[in-house]
Amino acid sequence: MAKKSVGRAIALGKCPQCHEGDLFKSKPYNLRKFTQMHETCPNCGVQYAREPRFFEGAMYVSYAISVALFLTVAFTIYFLFGRQPTYVFMTSIIVAVILLYPLQLRYSRILYLYAFGNLKYKEPVVTDQNN
Ligand SMILES: [Zn+2]
Repeated sequence: MAKKSVGRAIALGKCPQCHEGDLFKSKPYNLRKFTQMHETCPNCGVQYAREPRFFEGAMYVSYAISVALFLTVAFTIYFLFGRQPTYVFMTSIIVAVILLYPLQLRYSRILYLYAFGNLKYKEPVVTDQNN
């Protein structure tokens, strides 16, 4: 089986060890459950969190994503429409933050897990398929 790329696994929210199992229990815009994660991989069984409250560190990644989002929205408005009153920037940024919050939360946890979860990709065990 070909190795699945890390970028694709991150984009799809897959397990760092097998790149197959889902990290989250539901779709990002299921607003009742979008924060719920599996404790272990449904495919390979690895435990995601190294220690209790492991994912609290993801708030630093979330902060970085927030700053990038603020700057992206502000510069996009500025370059498309020129100088605008402050409320235009504030309203646009607040709307973008609210609409993208589920994705921001998920990708902050995903990126934190890939960076600090100490989980390496392992090739799946190949059984005798060609014999
Ligand atoms: Zn897995």
